[in-house]
Amino acid sequence: MRIGLIADVHSNLQAFRAVLEDMPKLDRIICAGDLVGYATEPNEVVNLAKSKRLLAVMGNHDYAALTRDVRGFNPIAAEAAVWTADKLTPENVKFLSNLPDRLELKLGGYRIYVVHGSPRDPLGEYVFPEIPNHELARIVQDLDADVIVLGHTHVPMKRMILGKLVINPGGVGQPRDRDPRASYAILTIGKKIEVDHRRVEYDPKKTAEKIKAAGLPEELAARLFFGW
Ligand code: ZN
Repeated sequence: MRIGLIADVHSNLQAFRAVLEDMPKLDRIICAGDLVGYATEPNEVVNLAKSKRLLAVMGNHDYAALTRDVRGFNPIAAEAAVWTADKLTPENVKFLSNLPDRLELKLGGYRIYVVHGSPRDPLGEYVFPEIPNHELARIVQDLDADVIVLGHTHVPMKRMILGKLVINPGGVGQPRDRDPRASYAILTIGKKIEVDHRRVEYDPKKTAEKIKAAGLPEELAARLFFGW
């Protein structure tokens, strides 16, 4: 069984399309949150996610676009969140509102736990690849899971800890590891589990132009070319 793992699409339709086209035939696609926020095509991205029958959890930007609660957001992120809230169709508000804050799946005999930030703070905590083993162990020790899929940092990660595999597929729509290519991962589940992190070249120009044309902060456009 092969599962596509994505996170942090952030309304970047061009990057999302490029990733979907790059994917081989998969049994499922799982999204670790933040379909919307930052770029300008939230409805197009949500519609595409629906058509692919994505299994998704809620991210902090999804939540902010639903509630307009931007506490803890920097001014640029907050502006984009409110802009997104104004743009979302009622059907897509409904879809995003129904996203759970975590998913506990059983696929191919393995237990897969999906959350945007971390199990102890689903929308808020960042788990970066630099996290020390003892910290990560504390986060995952009580989880009844074989695989834990995270998002939020926009940085790819893969770590085996206490017999549990922790994966962040990286950011589709706004990578932050200095590599502007869209990031995702393929999880292969069989006798053993394998993860393959992948990067997909796409042209951020169109997304950037739409961000500028919408009057959103230029920084949101510029960063797409550099991956930060
Ligand atoms: Zn994000």
